[in-house]
Amino acid sequence: MKLFLPRIEISLSQIQANAQVLCDLYSRKGISLMGVSKAVLGEPAIAEAMIRGGVRFIADSRIENIQRMKKAGISARLVLLRTALSQAESVIESADISLNTEIETLQRLSYYAEAYRKIHRVIIMVELGDLREGVMPCDLVQFIRTALLIPYIKIIGIGCNLACYGGIKPSSKNMRMLSDLTEIVENEFNITLEVVSGGNSANYEWYNSDHTNGKINNLRIGESILLGCETVNRQPIPGLHTHAFQLVAEVIESKQKPSLPFGERCQDAFGTVPNQAPEIQDRGIRQRAIIALGRQDILTSGLKSNDRLKILGSSSDHTILDSQNHSFQIGDEVSFSLDYGGLLSAMTSPFISKQFVDPQRHTVMVPSPAMFRLPAKA
Ligand SMILES: *Cc1c(COP(=O)(O)O)cnc(C)c1O
Repeated sequence: MKLFLPRIEISLSQIQANAQVLCDLYSRKGISLMGVSKAVLGEPAIAEAMIRGGVRFIADSRIENIQRMKKAGISARLVLLRTALSQAESVIESADISLNTEIETLQRLSYYAEAYRKIHRVIIMVELGDLREGVMPCDLVQFIRTALLIPYIKIIGIGCNLACYGGIKPSSKNMRMLSDLTEIVENEFNITLEVVSGGNSANYEWYNSDHTNGKINNLRIGESILLGCETVNRQPIPGLHTHAFQLVAEVIESKQKPSLPFGERCQDAFGTVPNQAPEIQDRGIRQRAIIALGRQDILTSGLKSNDRLKILGSSSDHTILDSQNHSFQIGDEVSFSLDYGGLLSAMTSPFISKQFVDPQRHTVMVPSPAMFRLPAKA
């Protein structure tokens, strides 16, 4: 099989195992999981791994990714996390459930739901302090009152999202607020909200503390399944794999060089002027390596080097490493772990090929969208 460089190696068995551990953990207190696939562009093989691990729904923020998974025949319910007015028709066609915060959007969804003879299910998001999406709590009852009058739309739950924009932590206080709002809405309209979705990978600490869940019975989990960590402190979750994704790139230069640039300093390639540039330390002559990977390929700050390899910096096409503790030859491969930004950018990059590596499965190449990527010489 041809190996491409740079590539991202993906272990489906580790992703499945992570989903399984998390489903077991959260189901102990009655919480079901949506597996969130947006960081991997709705890659159907990864969605399937999450489903084998036990997630009940697959959720994604992009309608294109939902369409991709629908076309691939993904068996779980597909949930759209971000609904745009202009995409209402596609949402009705492809998503089973969508998250919403605007009456006008619900009306447009209703229009197409009627046209397609469907009932579209929605979860109404409530603002609990992070200041991204959500109906203000004081407006929720009136919002639901209006939304209940819209035909072909069924409100199946409410939810909230934290720790994304404002960096607000899920706490016993805001979770109790969501729980209380659920009761208020259920009592006011005599309905049952079957999904109360309390958040994302940032809810781990809240879940593990002693307070009760109240009415919260669902979480939408991406990063914990994919990278094995929670997202309040970015600590690994016990029992999870944290290296299911590895970025592999090729060494194209390996030389001893001084560690301080010489000559007169000016701006770098991205306009950073010398007095704002990070101080470069003089460590004398060092072994340095360059890999064929740069900022056009990936968010290079999202690379996490394994064993004593220091990333010194990167430009559009080159990343420079202090490789004093290694003896790289030209053509060698170097592996990195990824943080969320690194994963997102690697999966989105047309220059990085996606490759599944599980030994127990046939290795499968995922065609990259790159039209101009050259296969490595056999
Ligand atoms: C991205 C997203 C998630 C998943 O977040 P993770 O931190 O990856 O678990 C959940 N809900 C919404 C609305 C999102 O946009």
